[in-house]
Amino acid sequence: MGSAKGFIHSTETFGSLDGPGIRYVVFLQGCPLQCLYCHNPDSWDINSGTQKTAAEVMEDIVRYKSFISSGGVTISGGEPLIQPEFVSELIDLGHQNGLHMAIDTSGAVPLNCCEEAVRKADLILLDIKSIDNDKCLKITGRGNHNALQMLDFRERVGKPVWIRHVLVPGLTLIESDLIRLAEYLKFYKCVQKIELLPFHKMGEYKWQVLCRSYQLYGTPEPTQEEMEAARKIFLDRGLPVS
Ligand code: SF4
Repeated sequence: MGSAKGFIHSTETFGSLDGPGIRYVVFLQGCPLQCLYCHNPDSWDINSGTQKTAAEVMEDIVRYKSFISSGGVTISGGEPLIQPEFVSELIDLGHQNGLHMAIDTSGAVPLNCCEEAVRKADLILLDIKSIDNDKCLKITGRGNHNALQMLDFRERVGKPVWIRHVLVPGLTLIESDLIRLAEYLKFYKCVQKIELLPFHKMGEYKWQVLCRSYQLYGTPEPTQEEMEAARKIFLDRGLPVS
């Protein structure tokens, strides 16, 4: 039986957006970043989560085993790797049940604090906020060093990564930045897929409810043409973009 307790934000039983196939998604509470475009600022404070052991979470997951057998489980957040022992234990329990286990992370946590969980995961969905360190600092409050180190580690151990990158007009939807990111990624064999995600405004109301200062009210969502132009930058370099 598992013993590590995790702070849980919520769960989704039939997720289709966070990794391959139909997945059970566990959203953990707490995040060290404060991304300007975050659509879940309610997940930042770890103390407002519900505490459960990994065994308790797995007990619920296995009820859906037949539905997620060709997909798996994704541990997301917030930033799940601020709770590395819980994540590691949940992955072990998932593997004991024959489940594919993925982590959806910003890579913000230093590798030496979460290496075991990062090594064990069958797939890492790694959200690179910006390939430019200064811009990453501006967008999230921290630089990109830890995320890039995590990518290097997965390359070394030969395990797959899907890169995620949110396109925000005026902030990350900038041709020169996207070219730089694509040029950087094209040397990594572990990168199986690149998901370019359009900035959206669905979480704006949460910033208001939480009385947090939101800077992107005037920022539009990207157009379909802008999304296509961004994809082309990666396609032209032979990268598996979606
Ligand atoms: S890493 Fe995710 S949860 Fe954390 S602030 Fe950024 S968008 Fe929000």
